[in-house]
Amino acid sequence: MNRDRAHVAVIGAGVAGLTAADALAGWGAHVSLFEKTPFLGGHAVQLNCKATDACVKCGACMAEDKLRRAVRHPNVEIHTGTQIEAVSGRTPYQISYCSHSPLVNADRCNGCGICFTKCPVPGAIMQGRAPRVGPYVAIRRDLCRFFDNAACSLCREACPTGAIVLSDRAQSGTMRADAIFVATGFTPYNPSDKPYGYGRFPNVITSLDAERLLREHTVMKRPSDGRPAGRIAFVQCVGSRDAQLGHPWCSKICCGSSLRMARLIQSRQKDAQITFFYIDVQTFGKDFQSFYQNARENISMIRAIPGDVVRTDADELEVIYFDPETHASTESVFDVVVLSVGLLPAGDNERMARMLEWAADESGFLPRHGSDRQPAPAGIFSGGSVTGPMAIADSISSAEKAVFDMVRYLTAS
Ligand SMILES: Cc1cc2nc3c(=O)[nH]c(=O)nc-3n(C[C@H](O)[C@H](O)[C@H](O)COP(=O)(O)OP(=O)(O)OC[C@H]3O[C@@H](n4cnc5c(N)ncnc54)[C@H](O)[C@@H]3O)c2cc1C
Repeated sequence: MNRDRAHVAVIGAGVAGLTAADALAGWGAHVSLFEKTPFLGGHAVQLNCKATDACVKCGACMAEDKLRRAVRHPNVEIHTGTQIEAVSGRTPYQISYCSHSPLVNADRCNGCGICFTKCPVPGAIMQGRAPRVGPYVAIRRDLCRFFDNAACSLCREACPTGAIVLSDRAQSGTMRADAIFVATGFTPYNPSDKPYGYGRFPNVITSLDAERLLREHTVMKRPSDGRPAGRIAFVQCVGSRDAQLGHPWCSKICCGSSLRMARLIQSRQKDAQITFFYIDVQTFGKDFQSFYQNARENISMIRAIPGDVVRTDADELEVIYFDPETHASTESVFDVVVLSVGLLPAGDNERMARMLEWAADESGFLPRHGSDRQPAPAGIFSGGSVTGPMAIADSISSAEKAVFDMVRYLTAS
């Protein structure tokens, strides 16, 4: 097939999907990039750069770079707020999709943030990256009270530029795809069922919450009262390496990500005392090993996974664990507890696999591209963390490898 006649669909606009979209468009294909949320960049663009006095190779900047390249490419057509409804036929595939608007007019929104202060439902208004206009705001219709019998329109009334629309007509469309790249990523583990008080104690947060708080405030503050947190605990392997949950895998990125975050906090809050509860530290790559040696000198490392977290009368968090040195049950008190949550298969992997006449593997991830055990149907490719937990750099290289094979496939067909 001639490259300028090839039409490809990329599903998921995280760093893997953006990498594939840019590379395929660079080769000459017409790319339709489908993203179910109103935002681009997936999880990776929600992360902070962890550099202190030097780069610590966290990978966050790579995601920004991929996003900029994909949105600027004229061969990439972006569909945000879009779900794939059906995939039919065999190569070429016929894809049916349905798009919703973000309910906020990005050209009018001046980013003043008044809507966030007026909204009574936490999380109903979100901020992220849009296709062409950079940071912008969108409203989740599943949480917004306007869509529950028009019970609330406080944000629309308060918006000084009339950017909030609160009316939406879904738009359906179809396209022909000579090949499909699936990059629908992972779901972070929700630790509400663990005995750590997540969802009940505001100062127990996940690692993703910690990323957001650090971006908002620069320093780590206690969500309950906004005071800087002096004593911070990180609890590793929450939701991964957990046979009882049926998640025996290591999520690979959590040790590195949490230790880098701990050092970033210490560089901004000189008096912050950090304790790291872990099973064993997974250090991938030679650069990380020396970073880890350095981090150990400033962080209290305890090889134990806490059994419980209790809120005290003074609104502190008491972490109860079995001390490996004294062999006794021990309590330590913290201002904030960060749960390093594992990376799980994306919620709609099974639906996606069924649509593509494929199958998820026994853990729920989609098979790795090129898997002999569960080969993909002709013209279907996968990459990034939809195939298993992986870091940003690995998600990029897995997408690049899949694109290489996609190009060979398209050229031969
Ligand atoms: C707390 C935390 C800290 C981390 N820290 C680091 C770090 O320091 N360094 C590092 O290298 N990595 C880190 N990671 C891992 C990093 O986030 C991943 O490597 C990266 O996000 C993987 O990108 P992806 O594109 O495969 O998936 P995702 O980022 O999950 O993107 C998938 C995209 O697909 C979209 N999507 C899902 N389903 C559909 C559908 N049906 N239709 C259309 N779109 C869909 C999603 O909305 C999303 O935008 C961290 C992860 C977490 C949770």
